[in-house]
Amino acid sequence: MKHVKIMGIPFTHITHRTLVQKLEEHIRLGEKSFIITANPEIVMHANADYEYMRSIHKANYITADGIGIIRASQLMKEPLPERVTGYDVMIDMLEIAEKEQYKIFLLGAHPDVLNRVEANIQKYYPNVEIVGKHDGYFDWNHNDVAEQVKEANPDLTFVALGAPKQEKWIAQNIDQFEKGVFLCVGGSFDVIGGVVKRAPAYWRNNDIEWLYRLLKQPKRWRRMLALPRFAYRVIKQKLKGCL
Ligand code: UDP
Repeated sequence: MKHVKIMGIPFTHITHRTLVQKLEEHIRLGEKSFIITANPEIVMHANADYEYMRSIHKANYITADGIGIIRASQLMKEPLPERVTGYDVMIDMLEIAEKEQYKIFLLGAHPDVLNRVEANIQKYYPNVEIVGKHDGYFDWNHNDVAEQVKEANPDLTFVALGAPKQEKWIAQNIDQFEKGVFLCVGGSFDVIGGVVKRAPAYWRNNDIEWLYRLLKQPKRWRRMLALPRFAYRVIKQKLKGCL
């Protein structure tokens, strides 16, 4: 599969539809797969945290989640086809799980949010079997979460611990699982649980979903500072390549 390297991260040249097809195939064949949907913030963090960079490199697919990544790939003259977000992939995988009666595990978010996610999935996808769940606020070093996942042996695990925890957790534990698709979904549980509203189509279609999220959750402003730093680094990388 073709990759586009942006600041050390090999992004997979893939569309949303193809990724969903590939994941369905991995589940059918009982293969393991680890998917990260990365934005500029993740790229910047990985460049400052070697352990995180190593975790990211364990993924089978790293998709462009964020218009900044798409613009960077265009600037490098290796355009990635489109944004592929954790939320959209999760919803499509739930549709497939509903048809195929797949087993899923839900990991992440606050306990009350997680309960609401479970209830909503049971309501809208009644054929999906939820074989386990755990909130995202456990003690990293003394937890049996990985054991629970191992025992439940799900086809599909949605990991909503936020970045960088979710990527690190999967990278650290995936070797002990027999099979399954492990998808990082960031704040998607908050949306499915009805706590946070997803940006309406207008904002998404005009590549300003990040602005919507900032307006709705102003405490994200500090995280957003990664964006101009990312743009600066990408332009510098581009200029270096031209010399
Ligand atoms: N979260 C968690 N455990 C933690 C920190 C965060 O389960 O230790 C959850 C948090 O409750 C939220 C999600 O991870 O549901 C992170 O959402 P955010 O909007 O930060 O993620 P993004 O989509 O920006 O990666």
